[in-house]
Amino acid sequence: MLANIHSFESLAALDGEGLRYAVFFTGCPLRCAYCHNPDSWFKSSTDMTAEEVFHKARRFKPYFKRGGGLTFSGGEPLLHASFINELAEMLQEEGIGYCLDTSGGVLLTNEVKEAINGADMVVLDVKFYEPDSYKKYTGGEFDNFIAAGRYCSEKEKRLWLRTVVVPGINDSEADMERYAALVNDWRYEQYELLGFHTMGFFKYENLQIANPLVDVPALSGERLEELQRYLDKERQALRRLES
Ligand code: SF4
Repeated sequence: MLANIHSFESLAALDGEGLRYAVFFTGCPLRCAYCHNPDSWFKSSTDMTAEEVFHKARRFKPYFKRGGGLTFSGGEPLLHASFINELAEMLQEEGIGYCLDTSGGVLLTNEVKEAINGADMVVLDVKFYEPDSYKKYTGGEFDNFIAAGRYCSEKEKRLWLRTVVVPGINDSEADMERYAALVNDWRYEQYELLGFHTMGFFKYENLQIANPLVDVPALSGERLEELQRYLDKERQALRRLES
């Protein structure tokens, strides 16, 4: 089976634990207004088999200590669930694990469940907390994301949640309360906020596609810290109420 690959990143210390070898797939069912990788929406000239990706990744095995391994990202890696499942068999024999970095924006098919089941951990984007804004700012289906999140939680998959905070869109304390409430009954290990930035704007220009947030400034580091503290307090308060 072939998959279309956007790029690789060797020994990235992001998106999962330890040192990671990141595989960025092309294609995404969403069109997030704040996407900083719009180039991943389109096919590249690189098609690879699962064996080829396996052989590239295996060279880094000595570095995959303390929870390291592969990270499948994109684009949306779960669009390539069958490919990941084929690759996972080879990785498993070699004792190499993988992390899925996903929006959960696909239907929860058996292939997708298998790809989630095989992952060491999942990093899931919590884009918006209700269907209308989810649709408005991502073009995707809120129900798909909820189904993916619940599935990870029920399977007790190691789950990290992440939300990009965009000035004027989801940057209020009231927004943080809604995010905290949304995931309150899920099992997850951490919930991190990321500030909207403008570093990917040049890609929209290069691709000659409209950038819907071209006039929106980056979120300041101070505001991000403030909101992270507020979100953490809300999450703890909700959990205390229940215990
Ligand atoms: S899910 Fe990720 S890659 Fe896809 S549009 Fe949204 S931010 Fe971009």
